[in-house]
Amino acid sequence: MKLLCALLVFVASASAVKNYGGYQVLRVVPQDMEQLQRLHDLYNLLEDTVDFWKEPTRLNQPVDIMIGPNLVKDVKLELSRRDLDFSIYVEDVQTNINNERCTDCVNAKAGFNYNIYHTADEISQWVTDMATDYSIVTEINIGKSHEGRDIKAIKISSGGSKRVIYIQGGIHAREWISPATMMYMANEIVTNYGVDPAVTDMVDNYDWYIVPSLNVDGYAYSWTNDRMWRKNRQPAFSLPSCVGTDLNRNYPYKWGGIGASPNPCSETFYGDAPLSGRETSVVHKWLQRFSGNIALFIDFHNYSQLWLYPWGYTHDKDIRQPHKDLQHALAIKATDALKVPYGTEYFVGMSGPDMYPAAGASEDYGYATLRVSYSYIVELRDEGNYGFLIPESLIEPSGIETFEALKVLGNDPLPKGPPIPVV
Ligand SMILES: [Zn+2]
Repeated sequence: MKLLCALLVFVASASAVKNYGGYQVLRVVPQDMEQLQRLHDLYNLLEDTVDFWKEPTRLNQPVDIMIGPNLVKDVKLELSRRDLDFSIYVEDVQTNINNERCTDCVNAKAGFNYNIYHTADEISQWVTDMATDYSIVTEINIGKSHEGRDIKAIKISSGGSKRVIYIQGGIHAREWISPATMMYMANEIVTNYGVDPAVTDMVDNYDWYIVPSLNVDGYAYSWTNDRMWRKNRQPAFSLPSCVGTDLNRNYPYKWGGIGASPNPCSETFYGDAPLSGRETSVVHKWLQRFSGNIALFIDFHNYSQLWLYPWGYTHDKDIRQPHKDLQHALAIKATDALKVPYGTEYFVGMSGPDMYPAAGASEDYGYATLRVSYSYIVELRDEGNYGFLIPESLIEPSGIETFEALKVLGNDPLPKGPPIPVV
């Protein structure tokens, strides 16, 4: 009996959190169009079996492929067979997971510690506490996730009714630096209001709504079960054994197009229908109250250091949208400011044509569906050294530099520009 108990405990603890021992990340950098094409072919072949941390995009842009121990040999052979040079970018993913947490940071500061990652429950409590502690903060309960967690926003407002800046983080569960950066920046706004004139103006100019962790179930799961979880936790209607919709392929504009998968087991599964994801649907309904009044929409991800604007659904450079120049110029201003503290460089461009197409994604939703003149998708740090596993010691630098960009945006008049075409 004792042995059985011991065995059960072992099985329970062993199955609790997925171990990434022996998982490697291989990097391939396409040097010419032919190699890029061969990488695209490989992506189409392997997309459902291995995890592309970074899929093929354009020349000289790295492709990062995470491979489990049982496939490492085969994939390396396949790459050699296709004459594609690779480097072993992450020798052992589990080692990077272990190194992500900074044990001596835990008690570094009194009060809420912005230098560490927090669980879904802690983030939820943080929203409540911010509203208790600061008069310019209101806790907003947007609705329930698939598993019944609260999806929360903090509203920062100095009163009256102003145009809205809406920011969301954590739509992809494993991108932990996103919620951490959202919380860092919200705290900077709140604690510097009335102290720093540039921050005071941000709040006097706009009402801010910040959703630190949109995909709350996925985020919780990335703590308790699988650090590399990306999607939400909703079983697919068409194939319930596959869990999770890629919420950032589930938005209604051009839903089901290229860069999104109909396969419920794929990491980029677009869902059973537009807005079938519980979280995208709940937040979408809530956002309707701001109809026509949102000046800026940003969806924060990591990694790659990109600041991108619509369109995302197509790679066709000739498909125009009338805000391209305004969006580009503003993104350049924001990323110039971002670069000042640490020299961090961002690429600015049109999402689909300049990087890679992804239909049903947030930047097109912000622009075409919510009709926001400045709609962006941002990929935070880094360029791949840590990928999704940004060490906690880099939360503060990420927060500091991204907040410089946000200050520029909050101090911009954000003119509406030409009418957004009905498309
Ligand atoms: Zn993402």
